[in-house]
Amino acid sequence: MQLNDVKIYEYDAVVVGAGLAGLAAAKELSEAGKRVAVITKLHPLRSHSGAAQGGINAALGEDDSTELHEFDTVKGSDYLGDQDAIEFMCSKAPETIRWAERMGAVFSRNDSGKIAVRPFGGQSKPRACYAADRTGLTLLQTIYEQAFRAGIEVFDEWYCADLLYEDGKAKGVAAYNIRTSEPAIFNAKVTMFATGGYGRAYKINSNAHANTGDALSIFARRGLPLEDMEFVQFHPSGLGGSGVLISEAARGEGGRLFNSEGERFMEKYAPNAMELASRDVVSRAIMEEIRQGKGVGPNKDAVYIDLTHLPKEVILTKLPELRDLAITFLGQDMLKEPITIAATAHYSMGGIPVNIRCQAKHAPTELVEGLYAAGECSCVSVHGANRLGANSVLEALFFGRVAGESMVEDLDNIELQAATKDDAKGMIEQINGILTNNGNERVPALRSELQESMTMDAGVFRTEESLLKQKAKLKEIYDRYKNIRIDDKSNTFNTDLQEAVELKHMIDFSIFIVEGALARKESRGAHYREDYTTRDDENFLKHTYAKFNGEYDLDIEYGDVVLGKFEPQERKY
Ligand SMILES: Cc1cc2nc3c(=O)[nH]c(=O)nc-3n(C[C@H](O)[C@H](O)[C@H](O)COP(=O)(O)OP(=O)(O)OC[C@H]3O[C@@H](n4cnc5c(N)ncnc54)[C@H](O)[C@@H]3O)c2cc1C
Repeated sequence: MQLNDVKIYEYDAVVVGAGLAGLAAAKELSEAGKRVAVITKLHPLRSHSGAAQGGINAALGEDDSTELHEFDTVKGSDYLGDQDAIEFMCSKAPETIRWAERMGAVFSRNDSGKIAVRPFGGQSKPRACYAADRTGLTLLQTIYEQAFRAGIEVFDEWYCADLLYEDGKAKGVAAYNIRTSEPAIFNAKVTMFATGGYGRAYKINSNAHANTGDALSIFARRGLPLEDMEFVQFHPSGLGGSGVLISEAARGEGGRLFNSEGERFMEKYAPNAMELASRDVVSRAIMEEIRQGKGVGPNKDAVYIDLTHLPKEVILTKLPELRDLAITFLGQDMLKEPITIAATAHYSMGGIPVNIRCQAKHAPTELVEGLYAAGECSCVSVHGANRLGANSVLEALFFGRVAGESMVEDLDNIELQAATKDDAKGMIEQINGILTNNGNERVPALRSELQESMTMDAGVFRTEESLLKQKAKLKEIYDRYKNIRIDDKSNTFNTDLQEAVELKHMIDFSIFIVEGALARKESRGAHYREDYTTRDDENFLKHTYAKFNGEYDLDIEYGDVVLGKFEPQERKY
């Protein structure tokens, strides 16, 4: 890759990511007459948003209210969620559903013809609107069509590798065409990251291969902080062995959990909510049963979810995709037998810190000019320490749109800082470094070591000992990465190269997960310390902001949680 070949594109706005968050923002920008480039390493319709099965929350049910939705979300977050952001999102959720519907999204309906809602974990009312068990796909197709109609320009199969950032201001990104390795600068007044989640740092996970947290590490390498990275959600029902997701809709429709002794064990852990307690509670219960030797399956590392008592039509009409997945991956038909599941790394609560206008922050209260983020890569902190099911498709769609509106508003007051070819230097050095490095470490092997060790020592259960062990392991992987070699040196669809770049992203943000978890000496939401099993509001009702200090070490500071009408209480289900 040569500096001379760098092309410079100028736009009003550049959006990295074409899932629900990126497309919702791009659509707003384009409709307001702004020129917007959307850069995406996948075709937009292959974004992970399309895999969302279960639903999108909005208080549309008969006796539901937006206030109850807020309360459930605050409680679900273990009181770490920012209540201003939660109120903003929940109060606008019904409108967001109507907006999606008017654009053409077809939701499932109840007998009286209204949009149907199904129960989900941690919610006091049925609240998840859905399109069978293909909710994300329906929404993604709709927003893609509408964003396209509004005139967005999509650069698909382009890889964003660097942020152009100096003195608290962003002016675009450096990226290359995956098909040809052609390098380019996308110079813009406003830049947005919407690159999704990062579950691939774990061995057993429900995420797409693309979920490697690219923007987080790109952002962090500029010395900017990541927020609340220690909170990684484990979903209770990944298919045994692979972690492929069986949506919470399976429990929402009435699925029951059993251990090898035929006990419906949730009675012990959440006697009221049972299988519909929040995800962190159910995941720990499952893993605890497995630890006690009450697991099922060939390796005794799973439990059963049983849906055989449900009417056949419920499974065939409301959960058809889930049934297919279990048949394909396990040969188990949920119509006839229980299927095997275990906790799977699923969702990342932490990310690029943003305010409720989706502007990125470089300190708890200071903003980066011209930089925005929304969706799973961001942390506006509506999920706090634990996200409720069906709240994140809502977050991506809603805050994606908010980011678009904020950029439209701010654009006219920002002057374009012209970029030069030299702004691509960092990316070119990185890529050429990987292509010419001649060490003896292999990317797939290092990646497996990363994923296995993160699952083992920074997973559902954590202790000081396990986290210190993982910290040392990460340092080892970090150093060994400098000694990698890839075989493919070509310029055409070089997936070896891309995987090497992505492994570096995963190593870098994993450091934040582990250091954040070590420093947080309490248990809250998805972060469970066996050596500090209770929540400690006195010392830790705070957001973590961690930054690279030099090459490897982190500085950690804490920022205030935005409290509001709901006082912290003990969380029971
Ligand atoms: C299996 C599964 C089921 C789920 N079910 C639900 C559900 O029922 N309800 C719910 O609320 N939530 C659900 N979630 C979570 C939810 O789907 C996601 O959090 C949300 O869709 C994320 O949207 P996003 O726009 O932030 O990112 P994504 O949809 O993941 O999009 C990321 C985009 O960024 C692009 N990108 C990434 N890195 C780069 C780079 N370096 N250069 C260029 N482009 C890049 C990708 O190409 C992609 O277009 C589920 C998640 C999974 C994994």
